[in-house]
Amino acid sequence: MDNCIFCKLASKEIPTNVVYEDDTVFSFLDADPQAPVHFLVIPKKHVSCLDECTEEDQELLGHMLLTAKKLAAEQGLENGYRIVINTGDDGGQTVKHLHMHVMGKRSMNWPPG
Ligand code: AMP
Ligand code: ZN
Repeated sequence: MDNCIFCKLASKEIPTNVVYEDDTVFSFLDADPQAPVHFLVIPKKHVSCLDECTEEDQELLGHMLLTAKKLAAEQGLENGYRIVINTGDDGGQTVKHLHMHVMGKRSMNWPPG
């Protein structure tokens, strides 16, 4: 999709710190990390948010979660991690391309929720 920053990262139009990619998902470091380890997992195809997903995206969503789990292990998050999917304006979503935040190694308390 034109003018979507995450589409531009996934297509390499704009360089970024790539964590992982395959045919359908792309992962990169968050530019403003909220934890010592903070990366994002996105679908390569443009989907604006979780609310836009349909049954057709079931496999993709499962693949995103299992990829997040695999990458968390590779990043040394053996004591756990937090996955967040902000959705829509009330969910605090600022980039309108579906993304999972994966965060770990944070010593201070997490906010609730
Ligand atoms: P959200 O508020 O859930 O939409 O999260 C968007 C996230 O994308 C924020 O944590 C930003 O720091 C991150 N972000 C925005 N632009 C970039 C970028 N060009 N490269 C890496 N992370 C980005
Ligand atoms: Zn996009």
